Amino acid sequence: MAEYDYDLFTIGAGSGGVRASRVSAAHGAKVAVAEEYRVGGTCVIRGCVPKKMLVYGAHFAEDLEDCQKFGWTVENPTFDWVKLRDNVLGDVDRLNGLYKDTLENHGVEIIHQRARITGDHEITLADGTAITARHILIATGARPHVPQCPGNEYGITSNEAFHLDKLPERILIAGGGYIANEFAGIFNELGTHVTIVNRSDTLLRQYDEQVRDRLLQISMMKGIDFKFHAEFKEIEKTDAGCLRVSMTNHDDIEVDCVMFATGRVPNTEGLGLEQVGVELGDKGEVKVDRFSKTSVDYIYAVGDVTDRIQLTPVAIREGQAFADTVFGNEPTSVSYDHVPSAVFSHPPIAAVGMTEGEARNSLGTVKVYTSDFRPMKNVVAGRNERGLYKLVCDGENGRIVGVHMIGPDAPEIMQAAAVAVKAGLTKQDFDNTVAIHPTMAEELVLMR
Ligand code: NDP
Repeated sequence: MAEYDYDLFTIGAGSGGVRASRVSAAHGAKVAVAEEYRVGGTCVIRGCVPKKMLVYGAHFAEDLEDCQKFGWTVENPTFDWVKLRDNVLGDVDRLNGLYKDTLENHGVEIIHQRARITGDHEITLADGTAITARHILIATGARPHVPQCPGNEYGITSNEAFHLDKLPERILIAGGGYIANEFAGIFNELGTHVTIVNRSDTLLRQYDEQVRDRLLQISMMKGIDFKFHAEFKEIEKTDAGCLRVSMTNHDDIEVDCVMFATGRVPNTEGLGLEQVGVELGDKGEVKVDRFSKTSVDYIYAVGDVTDRIQLTPVAIREGQAFADTVFGNEPTSVSYDHVPSAVFSHPPIAAVGMTEGEARNSLGTVKVYTSDFRPMKNVVAGRNERGLYKLVCDGENGRIVGVHMIGPDAPEIMQAAAVAVKAGLTKQDFDNTVAIHPTMAEELVLMR
């Protein structure tokens, strides 16, 4: 029987790679993980976590306005970007340390180098060291996609947004998805003038239409500009150091910063995957079966690099399932049904299951319930911002097949609602549940 240096060699210490490595080690495997940047991956280092902190920081702008209607006087509040940025980055350092500790406490060896596959069961590190492993796990994540256009090198991506020296006065954000809408909210709250430029007229296309429309309407009310059906032609640097952006169907605009939020591409280049026969898809993603196994028997892949659902909790589940399958003697696959999600825009969106449109296309009859309401806090604050909740039900049996929300704390409320949807509960089950009054969440059990 062949002898290997490790039972598992993981490439990439992000959410999926860390979970897979830690649990595999707990199952008794000898594990090493190679990471060329920082342990924690996109979510912890330059994604979900620091982004959520910026969302909190930015939202104080509204709270400071609204609190006056609740009797508070706050004179001349000022905002210090560098302080927020550094506090956020400080916490990222803390989390990076915790992730490292978790791996080390489980006996996982962390190798701070780039690694690539160079032969059968063989990995070579950047310093030339060759290593062998019984199993290899690709967990290299994804990186921002930047569309081709002259001058695109002047733009930044979300990676750099966390490190800005100062807030731009005017920013153009390209794209209409998660990152575009979340950062539009952050920058707008912090006083930057934001223009979203999107190639179509559809924001967040996987979300329910009514909810998307509500976000667009509220975002415009808050002062965010939108330019739709716009493809970039060129970005030029002006003598004054600004950026002039030309695009189809619209006049040129001048801004201080351009940020691309136009999707993410799997990190599969330079890993030696094709040479050993690992099959890739059209976007360069690693193709895997339901146990995350690639076309090569001993190579697996989890997380964004497989481009299944690019969400951290999904990558973590895939990492866990891999470890249980390969080292825990318990074949486990991840269920991709009813994965809840949220957009941390201002206000946030949350959803689980089918949109109304999807339900109408796939079910015989559909019954939809909506609640369009002004949250109590907004009423007192004089803030003309309405929430919208929506239940999409199978008309045959009343089963709730989708829940869609926009409004304060929608993601917090959705997590519990998603349990009900995943469990196959019906509208009647919701109706049978007594409301908690007064809350926004009670709308979920009061819709008629
Ligand atoms: P999204 O897929 O959400 O949105 C990409 C946007 O860019 C879409 O509007 C898309 O348009 C547009 N686009 C794509 N390619 C081009 C192109 N070549 N030129 C111009 N526009 C283009 O991607 P994000 O970058 O916002 O986020 C990446 C992923 O990260 C998300 O899909 C999500 O899985 C994850 N994420 C999750 C978050 C959360 O859970 N809260 C937060 C941030 C990211 P079109 O609709 O026409 O394709």
